[in-house]
Amino acid sequence: MSGMKARRKTPPAPRSTARSQAAFEAARRVLAGGVNSPVRAFKAVGGTPVFIARAAGATVTDLDGNTYIDYVGAWGPMILGHGDKRVEAAAGKTLQRGWSSGIPTEIETRLAERVVADIPSIELIRFVNSGTEAAMSAVRLARGFTGRELIVKVEGCYHGHVDALLVRAGSGPATFGTPSSAGVPAGVTASTLVVPFNDLPAAAAVFDRHGPRIAAFLVEPVAGNMGCVPPAEGYLQGLRDLCDRFGALLIFDEVMTGYRLGLGGAQERYGVRPDVTCLGKIIGGGLPVGAYGARAEIMNCLSPEGPVYQAGTLAGNPLAMAAGLATVEALHEPGVYERLEAAGARLAAGLQEAAAGTGAAVFTTRVGSMLGLFFQPGPVTDWTSAARSDTRAYARFFHAMLERGIYLAPSQFETLFVSLAHTDEQIDRTIEAAREALAGP
Ligand code: PMP
Repeated sequence: MSGMKARRKTPPAPRSTARSQAAFEAARRVLAGGVNSPVRAFKAVGGTPVFIARAAGATVTDLDGNTYIDYVGAWGPMILGHGDKRVEAAAGKTLQRGWSSGIPTEIETRLAERVVADIPSIELIRFVNSGTEAAMSAVRLARGFTGRELIVKVEGCYHGHVDALLVRAGSGPATFGTPSSAGVPAGVTASTLVVPFNDLPAAAAVFDRHGPRIAAFLVEPVAGNMGCVPPAEGYLQGLRDLCDRFGALLIFDEVMTGYRLGLGGAQERYGVRPDVTCLGKIIGGGLPVGAYGARAEIMNCLSPEGPVYQAGTLAGNPLAMAAGLATVEALHEPGVYERLEAAGARLAAGLQEAAAGTGAAVFTTRVGSMLGLFFQPGPVTDWTSAARSDTRAYARFFHAMLERGIYLAPSQFETLFVSLAHTDEQIDRTIEAAREALAGP
């Protein structure tokens, strides 16, 4: 790292947020907590959320006219950037033809063909409306296919707000989970075992103890919900081997990593083939979507072919399918993932250097265009180490960046996403803002 001098500048003039604040007050009168998903409410960083009026390219603009370079990207789907014309055209065409009938349409088959061609572990797929549904249904399918009950999940991994998966901390490798949300009966999580991320001995121990009763091991192959935490060398292959030895299914939750880390997702990047894959986010191009897929033998357990029931009024909705297909097709253009890799690397290196120059304890992680920014010296390899981060320092940094026109996730434990719309100039402006923000007022 170069010993770049910390630059202290006069802080930017406070931006106006009056309209966003009024909008939040109005929202709170009629929406629970003023939002439709908790992290949006800024509770983890303090203050009140900005309300977005427009989004274009790599930026979002709030009701008060402040424009921010956006690293949330709708929590992952907007890999092409906001307002992509190809997606707009595809969705527009679908709108003209009618956007929902609940009767089969060919666009569902087109997107399925695309995914099946890109992800070799998937022979058949089923579309749902969210990542939550994808994970919930994948677990049911795994239980139905194996005739077993137990699910192993990994501490710090998030699979949506499925009752049985809302289990965070198990102390020790074989701890039966206790719910981490009110309203989840202990009986529902009693069949969920929790192990730490990147800990093969813990996984082996849980299989040694409960192997014949384990239906599936469920993991984010790159953890993206405790910040971004890459898998250790050999971890995913070790899980593959354990599942094979004990006849359990390996489920990769690629809701975040699918099409983010390459056309074949994390499983292609790390060369490990799961039995079942969960998808979401990018395959809907920013419209509500989820999906799960596997080889035919497993997927044929699903209703109407088999005994595992799962259905959806709006599943495979043509508008979401059209936006998703246009997004995925755009990702097939040559050089796309190289560009994402280069942009991610530029941002990560710049942030690390900015931190080094100010003496701030910041540990960055990166896989492709997914970045983690931990306020601690590191290393971060699992939930225990991620949780050592200074969340108050992150909150201060978040607000200092917001003041400088950079929109980061309003929580330490989220992943930052770079899109194809981010220019080098925008990334460099972000790094410069970080240098100032880390230097303090
Ligand atoms: N799995 C993973 C890995 C996720 O990151 C998320 C959402 N961030 C989900 C599942 C849940 O998806 P949704 O919010 O669409 O229900």
